Amino acid sequence: MGKRRKRTGTVLVVVLLAVAAFAVYSYYSYTISPAGSIREGIGPLGSAHIHQKAAIYIDGSRLNLALPQYQSQDNYAHFEDGDGITLHLHATGINLEYVLSTLRLLDKGPFAAWVNGQDNSQGVKYQPLDGDTILITNTPELAGQQYTEAFP
Ligand SMILES: [Zn+2]
Repeated sequence: MGKRRKRTGTVLVVVLLAVAAFAVYSYYSYTISPAGSIREGIGPLGSAHIHQKAAIYIDGSRLNLALPQYQSQDNYAHFEDGDGITLHLHATGINLEYVLSTLRLLDKGPFAAWVNGQDNSQGVKYQPLDGDTILITNTPELAGQQYTEAFP
């Protein structure tokens, strides 16, 4: 009788530890994701996997997106493997505003966007397509020049 109760207790502790571990994991992978609050309209993770070439200029200077603080910041949209040009989008419905939020750059706006060599009237609301070449900048008057510099 005593032995059995002890084993039941052990099983209970293991189950509780597993639940706690999963809760902690979920918290870190979803709840405090930098872009968690504006994921509305974005499809499930894995609903797409498309790539763009991207450059971001802040106050006239190109950001080095290969730096650790810009790498793998979000599961849905990221730069990875030390590559500071290829943007990976892993769901449908992602716009440039979301990408900027994952990089903690939204407060540097307002931003303009050039896509495939043209000023894009949607700006950060633009949802990139596979193969796009994209310049995002907070100095719109220099956008054409920056686009040519980033993508000669
Ligand atoms: Zn990818």
